[in-house]
Amino acid sequence: MYDFDMIVIGSGPSGRRAAVQSAKIGKSVLVVEKGRRVGGVSVHTGTIPSKTLRETVLNLSGWRERGFYGRSYRVKQDIDAGDLMARLHKTLDHEVDVLEHQFARNGVKTARGEARFLDPHTIEITGEGGEVDTVTGAHMLIAVGTRPFRPDYVPFNGMSVFDSDEIVDLPKLPRSLAVIGAGVIGVEYASIFSALDVAVTLIEPRSTFLDFIDKELIEEFTHELRDRNVGLRLGAAVTSIALDERERPVCKLADGRTVQADMLLFAAGRVGATDRLNLDAAGLKVDHRGRIAVEPKTLQTAVPHIYAAGDVIGFPSLASTSMEQGRVAACHAFGLEPPPPPEFFPYGIYSVPEMSTVGMSEEEVRKREIPYECGIARFRETSRGHIMGLNNGMMKMIFSVKTRRLLGVHIVGEGATELIHIGQAVLNLKGTIDYFIENTFNYPTLAEAYKIAGLDAWNRMTRV
Ligand SMILES: Cc1cc2nc3c(=O)[nH]c(=O)nc-3n(C[C@H](O)[C@H](O)[C@H](O)COP(=O)(O)OP(=O)(O)OC[C@H]3O[C@@H](n4cnc5c(N)ncnc54)[C@H](O)[C@@H]3O)c2cc1C
Repeated sequence: MYDFDMIVIGSGPSGRRAAVQSAKIGKSVLVVEKGRRVGGVSVHTGTIPSKTLRETVLNLSGWRERGFYGRSYRVKQDIDAGDLMARLHKTLDHEVDVLEHQFARNGVKTARGEARFLDPHTIEITGEGGEVDTVTGAHMLIAVGTRPFRPDYVPFNGMSVFDSDEIVDLPKLPRSLAVIGAGVIGVEYASIFSALDVAVTLIEPRSTFLDFIDKELIEEFTHELRDRNVGLRLGAAVTSIALDERERPVCKLADGRTVQADMLLFAAGRVGATDRLNLDAAGLKVDHRGRIAVEPKTLQTAVPHIYAAGDVIGFPSLASTSMEQGRVAACHAFGLEPPPPPEFFPYGIYSVPEMSTVGMSEEEVRKREIPYECGIARFRETSRGHIMGLNNGMMKMIFSVKTRRLLGVHIVGEGATELIHIGQAVLNLKGTIDYFIENTFNYPTLAEAYKIAGLDAWNRMTRV
């Protein structure tokens, strides 16, 4: 009756996972992608490019060795944009190749073009050359993601003023950079460029940033940024942005200060890429940020055979969670019961230094009036930390005094985004402080910090 059992619009993490899962169940699947190559924001302008850039910067700048050899240590003296782009293009080619192979292996069909709804079961696909095709699907998944929010007062020019999608195609390295927006993307890029010795100023209208992260971790991170001379203009809204005679951005702030830099990255928010989908024809509505509401367990929209997943449905807007959502949507569409989502998922922020967090922050535990105790470990206390020359890095664990259960793990420092998974496993398996006390950890490792932080909390809890 329909051309396909499932039509997926968008080939980012949620679309990709939904397509492959549907194909594995034996269904016919079409993925429609308007970009030149499959992969989505995640592969082409978001997750993978920013993380590749970070890795390249850390390697070429010798960042990880500076604890031993001093701040002036470099692996390559004059790092330019070409150095950064070379590794990026190689990584992206590889990612796309793996993805295309995955689609081919599983018999997932792809169509290049922009999709828009004609009715709840029919979409029109317009190719780059204007050619139009129409296809029907029994089920649909809207996985179109987001695009950067570009307000009119920002003079984007692709040369000195960029949004977060454009910054990965940097024509040259600036000597100074202003970043507007201290969300995850802004903080990541600000700290990555600062590791290249670019003079960075981070501007945020609110007086705090990354509020979903444990405050103590943010204090540690902020100290580290200040130590590297990153200018923090918190609580300072931007009132205007102009370009000087050399096309350099000049930002006027509400507190009366001015920030001038060679380059500006505007990273204050993203909006759902839904405006060209003709959602009215499908019977769907969006909110003021272009996002689609879904039933959280099944990911169905208001029209039951149309699902939505990934960034287009809003928080948490991560590649990791988007993938899971895509799989859940496909399973539900074809009558498979997906396992219930875990209570806690990790959040990784690939700043320099990186941060990762799972479970409740200390502020949250207090708000819920749970009697608790914390354990802290500093990476410099671990032998592995000495070997690696780490001067900073910290892990904080929070335990319930009543049940002894682990409530949250918060890490800033080298390897945080990998280390967090030990805490995540214990947390989701409802483990207690005893896991860390009773078990032996490899030595020397940074994971030993779990033992140290566990003992730190245990000593205090025992005294109580
Ligand atoms: C700078 C940056 C860094 C990030 N870092 C991380 C990280 O470290 N870890 C992490 O987990 N997440 C990270 N994210 C978030 C992550 O990239 C997103 O959560 C993820 O890409 C969302 O996936 P998605 O499935 O919604 O699709 P997206 O990846 O957003 O892709 C959507 C696709 O749909 C296509 N599309 C849109 N409209 C149409 C249409 N009408 N027809 C056809 N195709 C269409 C687009 O071309 C695009 O290819 C980062 C994001 C950014 C911007």
